[in-house]
Amino acid sequence: MPTLSDIRLTFLRENSMTKHYDLLAIGGGSGGIATVNRAARYGAKCAVIEGGRLGGTCVNVGCVPKKIMWNTAAVNHALERAAEYGFSLGKHEFHWPVLKQARDAYIERLNQRYGVGLADNNVELIRGYARFVDAHTVEVNGAQFTADHVVIATGGRPVVPQIPGAEWGITSDGFFELETQPQRVAVVGAGYIAVELAGVLNMLGSEVSLLLRRAHFLDSFDAMLRETLMEDMVEAGVNILTHRSVAEMRREGGALTLIFEHGEQLSGIDSVIWAIGREPNTRALNLGTAGVETDARGYIHTDAFQNTNVANIYAIGDITPRPALTPVAIAAGRRLGDRLFGGISDRHLDYSTIPTVVFSHPPIGTVGLTEAQAREIHGDGVKVYQTRFTPMVHAFSPRPTKTAMKLITVGEHEKIVGLHVIGDGADEMLQGFAVAIKMGATKKDFDDTVAIHPTSAEEFVTMR
Ligand code: FAD
Ligand code: NDP
Repeated sequence: MPTLSDIRLTFLRENSMTKHYDLLAIGGGSGGIATVNRAARYGAKCAVIEGGRLGGTCVNVGCVPKKIMWNTAAVNHALERAAEYGFSLGKHEFHWPVLKQARDAYIERLNQRYGVGLADNNVELIRGYARFVDAHTVEVNGAQFTADHVVIATGGRPVVPQIPGAEWGITSDGFFELETQPQRVAVVGAGYIAVELAGVLNMLGSEVSLLLRRAHFLDSFDAMLRETLMEDMVEAGVNILTHRSVAEMRREGGALTLIFEHGEQLSGIDSVIWAIGREPNTRALNLGTAGVETDARGYIHTDAFQNTNVANIYAIGDITPRPALTPVAIAAGRRLGDRLFGGISDRHLDYSTIPTVVFSHPPIGTVGLTEAQAREIHGDGVKVYQTRFTPMVHAFSPRPTKTAMKLITVGEHEKIVGLHVIGDGADEMLQGFAVAIKMGATKKDFDDTVAIHPTSAEEFVTMR
């Protein structure tokens, strides 16, 4: 028996001016674009609705500008170390506005490239913010669009604390708008963004305080990683203040003062960056009319196939409580396209063993279980291998950055369930090892692999 919604859909398709699609994506970021492009290649009639700039968070205010800033900091670091290798470069100067202009131009080219990619795949781009009218219909700027399948991929936005004066601070979005380099910065938060932005600014010469509520940052990471990074950041000059909760912020003249819960103050700050997490963009979607449920924080939960609680409505990327990473959103979207239009009925993303890199200084690469998680699950069956050394690149350095590595194995065959590394090159090292771990590598597989010398990565196949 067709439902009322099916009858309405058939009516709309045959009788109205409302445009109808096989698949409609709400949100033209990493996840939405990946889904429609994949579906369209199977011949599906697709559109993507985007209210902001194409490419979403990653391209405009996330991975891309962040990595450019990280590269910039790495160049500065290399210049500072050049003398160790016999170069005399004299004094070098950094011009933030020059870099910002180049970065903005690069991102604009990416925005355009995404537009061209959609057009090449015959995907329509609808400009504006969407809200549901019913389970198959959305409205954008007064026009209505219907689809057999709707994927919600509206991502998230930074959280700003509800404290007096919070509006004087900026978030990561504001960081990428800064026209000049702030000289005295306070970064509040303890996750990826806090350590990445604190690291970049410190490497570029700003005076940086990093304010943590607890004794450590990167709470969900292996303790070895966060402890090594903490040591290194302190040695590099970041003023890490632990057990500080900001209660209020004041602005006098151009300077900001942070007031902590116990009354202590940090003053004379040019820029405060809130990096205390992100929240999902669900509120404006009018999800209630479509019957899509969210949790108390606004996230849309899905099954393993990205199905929401409403048939033919899916959710992918940061709008779900899955790992908030671009390749995760893309992989989930492409698999959804394969399943809906490519005839691969069981295609879905396996969310286990997702590798991730923190672009700190030095970077962190991690995949699989932390030691604490492994011991909780597997108890005495866990065997850990670890090493810590000074990589050769720092052979002449007065303040050598350490590299630390850990392999977590389980059971008689020593299957590797966790691999963690912090140090120069960790970011590029991880991807290949992540393949091995996804394939079920054991310690013996690592031992049987011939090392590449002299590298840091070789330590992973020579650990005892
Ligand atoms: P988004 O990319 O956020 O896209 C959602 C889109 O939906 C946006 O363009 C938004 O304008 C649009 N939208 C919202 N509401 C509506 C509406 N009602 N109608 C129409 N359009 C709407 N991940 C990594 O893997 N590596 C990194 O190095 C990395 N660095 C990061 C650095 C920062 C500072 C930040 C903030 C994030 C970073 N991330 C990184 C995370 C990554 O950016 C996200 O996981 C990814 O962008 C999520 O993709 P998405 O498609 O779910 O959402
Ligand atoms: P995260 O969720 O990673 O970290 C935010 C942390 O800030 C919390 O875990 C909490 O840690 C702390 N915090 C929360 N509230 C407060 C508060 N009021 N005062 C002080 N500290 C507070 O959020 P991010 O915004 O850093 O990043 C969001 C997501 O984006 C990441 O989880 C990641 O998935 C993605 N991302 C990925 C990157 C990459 O791949 N390299 C880079 C950047 C972002 P605690 O409870 O310990 O205090």
